[in-house]
Amino acid sequence: MRTMRGRFAPSPTGEIHLGNAWTALLAWLQVRAAGGTMVLRVEDLDPDRSRTEYGEKLMVDMKWLGLDWDEGPDVGGYYAPYCQAERRGLYQAALERLTAAGLVYPCYCTRAELAASAPHGGENERVYAGICRRRKLDDARQVIRHPALRLAVPPGEICFSDLHAGFRSQDISREIGDFIMRRSDGIHAYQLAVVVDDAAMNITHVLRGDDLLSSTPRQLLLYRLLGLKAPVFTHVPLLIDQEGHRLSKRQQALSIAVLRERGVKAESIIGYLAWKAGLLERCQQVKASELIAGFAVDKLPSGQLIVEYPLPV
Ligand code: GLU
Repeated sequence: MRTMRGRFAPSPTGEIHLGNAWTALLAWLQVRAAGGTMVLRVEDLDPDRSRTEYGEKLMVDMKWLGLDWDEGPDVGGYYAPYCQAERRGLYQAALERLTAAGLVYPCYCTRAELAASAPHGGENERVYAGICRRRKLDDARQVIRHPALRLAVPPGEICFSDLHAGFRSQDISREIGDFIMRRSDGIHAYQLAVVVDDAAMNITHVLRGDDLLSSTPRQLLLYRLLGLKAPVFTHVPLLIDQEGHRLSKRQQALSIAVLRERGVKAESIIGYLAWKAGLLERCQQVKASELIAGFAVDKLPSGQLIVEYPLPV
């Protein structure tokens, strides 16, 4: 059997908060409980939103929480580099393979055209109606605008079994349409980059927030089209605030750095998260390493998890 290889793949777009610590802890526990290898990959694909200092800060915060990694931007590893901004050549090579197979086409649609043409698809995503797949491009459009590149999605259901969310299936061509592989500004899409990276880094298990459950069929399609082996997925419920919004980097009060500055201990944060995860019967201080022996994916709760604030520890 292959040794488990899991990863935590945060985007350095702000200070990490309790919600990031939640998925980081669970991904870490899944790997550590199996005696596997933990990878930290910084997803700084989008230069407009990513900041180097947030990448550095998140490593400080994770170490403070007691969550370590065996391969990552600071320690290196066999599959280096571990920052997406340094891996663009790999995304481009994958894109060229898809293009050579006739699966990619340029899209010159403006925002207004997209808004006017797109019927609503599943899970509030807009379905791309395939306008550019069909239209003959006039020369003016080609000169004026750099195109985005889209995948010509074949019809048919993509099915998978998630270790927590169960059986899922989606016909991407109906519910999403041809999705972007490279934006018009030349930045490769998350869907492509994450597949290329997880496959290249030999990741066997992906545990992440269930906001990405709806991305998984697109990623599985890319694994298939690129002839790559897909990992086993576990999508866990996200933490939400009292108003029902998922925690975001805008909620400063729940940033790990702010909690630390206020004197909250790492063991209190970990204990709180472990209690929410069903790994502790009551909310108490605990080290992340003390949770490894008792971890099991089937203990994790379903449904939304509301954060109490201040933390009851
Ligand atoms: N970088 C993504 C995020 O921070 C996570 C990607 C993934 O886990 O697949 O939301």
